[in-house]
Amino acid sequence: MENLSEGTPQIIDSSSSSFLEQLLRHSSDAAIVVHPKYGVTYASPAIADVLGISPDAFLGRMAAEWIHSDDVASMLEHRSAAEQSGHAGPIIIRGLHEDHTWRYFEAEWWRPDDSNFADGTILHFRDVSQRERARAEAARSEARLGALLLEASDVVMVIGKDGQQLSYVSPSIERVMGWSTELASELTWRQVIHPDHLQRWIDAVTSVAEDPEGRRQIELKGLHKDGTWRWLDASILNRFEDPLIEGIILHFHDVTPRHLAEQELARRSLHDSLTALPNRVLFVDRLESALNRSQRSGGLVALLYCDLDRFKNVNDTIGHGGADLLLCEVARRMEVAIRAGDSLARLHGDEFVVCAEEIDSWEEAQILANRLRRDLAKPFIHDGREIHLTTTIGIAISSKDNPYSASDLLENADAAMFVAKKGGRDRIAFYNEEVRSRELSELAIRDEIRGAIENDQLVLHYQPIYDLTSGALLGTEALVRWQHPVRGLLYPGDFIPVAEESGLIVALGSWVIESAMRQANVWGFGTARQAKMWINFSALQLERIQIVDEITELLSRFAIPSRAIGIEITETALIDAQPEIDTRLRILRYLGYSIAIDDFGTGYSSLLYLRRYSADTLKIDRAFVSGLGVSRDDTAIVSSLRGLAAMLELRVVAEGVETQDQLQALRAMGCESASGYLLAKPADASVITQLLDEPLELIRSHS
Ligand code: C2E
Ligand code: CA
Ligand code: CA
Repeated sequence: MENLSEGTPQIIDSSSSSFLEQLLRHSSDAAIVVHPKYGVTYASPAIADVLGISPDAFLGRMAAEWIHSDDVASMLEHRSAAEQSGHAGPIIIRGLHEDHTWRYFEAEWWRPDDSNFADGTILHFRDVSQRERARAEAARSEARLGALLLEASDVVMVIGKDGQQLSYVSPSIERVMGWSTELASELTWRQVIHPDHLQRWIDAVTSVAEDPEGRRQIELKGLHKDGTWRWLDASILNRFEDPLIEGIILHFHDVTPRHLAEQELARRSLHDSLTALPNRVLFVDRLESALNRSQRSGGLVALLYCDLDRFKNVNDTIGHGGADLLLCEVARRMEVAIRAGDSLARLHGDEFVVCAEEIDSWEEAQILANRLRRDLAKPFIHDGREIHLTTTIGIAISSKDNPYSASDLLENADAAMFVAKKGGRDRIAFYNEEVRSRELSELAIRDEIRGAIENDQLVLHYQPIYDLTSGALLGTEALVRWQHPVRGLLYPGDFIPVAEESGLIVALGSWVIESAMRQANVWGFGTARQAKMWINFSALQLERIQIVDEITELLSRFAIPSRAIGIEITETALIDAQPEIDTRLRILRYLGYSIAIDDFGTGYSSLLYLRRYSADTLKIDRAFVSGLGVSRDDTAIVSSLRGLAAMLELRVVAEGVETQDQLQALRAMGCESASGYLLAKPADASVITQLLDEPLELIRSHS
């Protein structure tokens, strides 16, 4: 191997370089000698492994034939560098395998030390495809990650030791919070964390920073660049010991929508959806806490059970939508009226409860109740018209000496409210043992009434109604009594409210109708005598569709004409009644029965009712009659009622005449008929029988 002259390909004689040959054969690195003009002049055995071609077949190849076109330039560049300096590389090049796939090679150029050794440059290369592919993949995924962090809904920050300095903010901060990364790095936590949550944040970061394993998850509100607060779910992680991070990783995303949904759910399950006030569940919970506190402090807890009077009527007048609005307004007014620590809830419908804590006396509860009543009594405006509401409030009190459970207190206040309602609404009643015993006896009465109907303990008394000019008996009013085996004769006030409330009034009423009709038949009302039997009805009876048939059936059974029967219904019963009652009364009126509005003047005193219910008679309540000649107002009221009735062609009956003066006043006003103790007390049929045909001397003598 001497005098290797330029221009002639010098093929290395493998036998002459057996040492080198040995070395190369066992190397996984390939080596070739490249001549600028003749291409590959030597290829080591490893070529077969790295390029899938036999060394001999590789001879003469030019770089462009097997090296990726993008890499040829740098190959040549490095070769000349190696020719200059003896060595160049390594570089990464792509070479074509015989299977037509590109392989990555790490390649180095060497200039042979001994120019006699080879004419050309040695290229030493090994397959690094696997490593390169992994690296490319890594680069790709890094690019993807970058894009992800920008697009991501997650924000990553790295916070320095001081808890302030940010060493990294992911670009997604702009998407999530609106701040650019530059701006974000300048903001202080105080500027972007909600004041309510700042301490929580500081505590969390401090505790994480102190513990190498520290990790916390918190929810806090952060400031979006648009000025709104966003709920953020943040995790904080101690990574001081990680040399790549050396800080606290803060990782958060916006959970505002979830938070709002959760809040709404929680609010809904604990709040009344209409008024947004706490519901029973939440209220009872607060009441219980208040009761516990009062046990320690010794203060009183008052429970006010508030019920709007005749709300059903309002409902009918302004519709459900209007009534809902009204209830919301009621809620708002009550919220304003109660004291700061009190809690308010709507239990259902028109029932509200207030828990007043730390009060000193019953009077204080009463003052609060009166304030509520007063504020709710101010007119509500709906659709341009004024609506007036009154409120009945039952109050129960728990004290250290006389403690009640939350449910008992609620029950007691409800019972007190119920008693107040029966007492005439628009008032306050306290729960006490008397209420309780009355309530208990009501329960007993309920069962007993059932027995009374079955065991014939009911009796009817009749009270005459007289013509004030002739003194003739115009009719009688049937009034029910209960001949109680133990308690003696009971009056309607003792059992009618219970019967109405329990629905027993329907059965009781049927008994009354039948008995009164039987008596009307005996007395020949409508046939032998032109007199009427007046029967008191409760709304519940008249709401039933069967009532017309029932009455008609009895009428034919006792062979009396419908004009002999008068139906009395109180004004207040009508106010609370179902709308069906209109139809029922109109039919009855059409069938020839008389309809009287009872106790007129104690309810809305609306003449509209008179028309709507096709009444033909108006019974002026005893309350006004008793004031005749005494109270100017009462005199004026009775007088004007009488005038209105005349205009509407209604007959008038003045009830409860007890004195001569009252009688005189009524006659002076031109009132045509009356009843009352002065004229005749309600009595047994046998007593009344004797009065039927004799004009009342008392009246006759005055005319
Ligand atoms: P009401 O329909 O207004 O009946 C008149 C009430 O006044 C009767 O009381 C009668 O006894 C009483 N009264 C009559 N004249 C005088 C008087 O001059 N002075 C005084 N202080 N009172 C007088 P009663 O019988 O206790 O009935 C009370 C209420 O019970 C009745 O008031 C009526 O609303 C109701 N009621 C009576 N019987 C029935 C019935 O069969 N069914 C229904 N649903 N209610 C009835
Ligand atoms: Ca009556
Ligand atoms: Ca009456």
